[in-house]
Amino acid sequence: MISAETMEDTSCCCHDNQAVFLERAMRRLNLNSAQQQLLLQSFREVSVQIPIRIYDGDKQTLRTFTGYRVQHNQARGPFKGGLRFHPDVQLEEIRALAQLMTWKTALVDIPFGGAKGGIAIDPTELHEHELEVLTRRFTQKMTPVFGVNEDIPAPDVNTNPQVMAWIFDEYSKSNGYTPGIVTGKPIELGGLDGRLEATGYGVASITTMACDYLQIPMDGAEIVIQGFGNVGSFAALRLQAMGASIIAVSDMYCGLYNAKGIDVEALYKYVRVNSKIQGFDGAEQISNASLLCLPCDVLIPAALEGTINCANEAGIRARLIVEAANMPLTHMASAKLQERSVTIIPDILANAGGVIASYFEWVQNTQRLSWKREAVFTQLEDRMFRTFTDVQQLAEASGVDFRTAAYELAVQRVLHAVELRGF
Ligand code: NAD
Repeated sequence: MISAETMEDTSCCCHDNQAVFLERAMRRLNLNSAQQQLLLQSFREVSVQIPIRIYDGDKQTLRTFTGYRVQHNQARGPFKGGLRFHPDVQLEEIRALAQLMTWKTALVDIPFGGAKGGIAIDPTELHEHELEVLTRRFTQKMTPVFGVNEDIPAPDVNTNPQVMAWIFDEYSKSNGYTPGIVTGKPIELGGLDGRLEATGYGVASITTMACDYLQIPMDGAEIVIQGFGNVGSFAALRLQAMGASIIAVSDMYCGLYNAKGIDVEALYKYVRVNSKIQGFDGAEQISNASLLCLPCDVLIPAALEGTINCANEAGIRARLIVEAANMPLTHMASAKLQERSVTIIPDILANAGGVIASYFEWVQNTQRLSWKREAVFTQLEDRMFRTFTDVQQLAEASGVDFRTAAYELAVQRVLHAVELRGF
């Protein structure tokens, strides 16, 4: 049998990469095969058919989509995870992402398990009212497995607060007013003030902690960010406010570089109007590929899975990589960078600010309370700090990298809960 560790670097197959990271943690924890099977297998995998009518002028056609919800583990609390609308959605990837949520919620020590869902669709092909019908039908079919203490969806790729509002409304029709059924809702419906910024701000906090650890002064630290969407832009804004110099950023169209530092606030305003970074005055345009090879203190991939792989890893000249996106590094690129003494802060730690904020939203909904924005950020920072310290201490004590320590801590916590509950 080929072990996951010896598999080819098949770029962005997140299930392969996660398998390698997990296998290493499980080996270090000496888990037997029965324990491994218990932790790796999904609790439940639901696939539903969603037929809807699509209108094109007077013509109407029937189209049938497939929706998924994978509930991986609930030993530590209700299943929690995003819902994505994307043509590439398929069960295998949703399964891997559901697992990732289990480890992430355990690592940051919030009382949730892991889940993920999605509908295989290109949402740009539908009118808004068709998207609403699709979301409501999906919710009707998933209502038996959703629940405030069962499974709580959240936004993910191509889903947003409006989609969460439709799910909340549809679920509430048969269950009474239930804002805690989803997180990432509009603030007017019980959403959290600060959720929008939470993942990016969390990335910025973790970057500061990692810089302290590596003795990189934050004042003037040169930072490159791949992806200037929700996570990348708020991380950039926060890091610049802390004194760092954001020398380059990119989006799917191009990169921008300014050796003296980009004015991130001005760029953020520009992108709100123009929807892309191209054409911004305060920096020179570079290619996405060359952005990754810029000499810098910190590289923050905040775009897609597998963007750093064996094809481009050799060009990277950062001292520290903070994985703001999910699985931006393949396992082989990760290993080669570590051989060159590049420190990598793994996604389950770096981008956990989003799920921590979701937890705050759920707590606020179940208690019928609302928190002030400042309280959200203070508590977020506190949890990120505690988690970073836990991971750092384990990494130092065991002589392993941050990723191995993070997975080890998370797997250990889930296994302990499973055993205590007597599954
Ligand atoms: P987003 O869609 O808002 O932004 C993605 C950005 O990446 C955009 O600027 C896009 O143009 C850019 N991009 C796409 N392809 C690119 C490429 N090849 N090169 C450079 N840039 C490219 O998404 P987001 O919410 O910021 O999420 C980014 C990543 O963070 C994803 O991996 C997501 O799963 C992960 N994540 C997000 C959250 C959250 O709360 N939003 C939480 C945890 C993890």
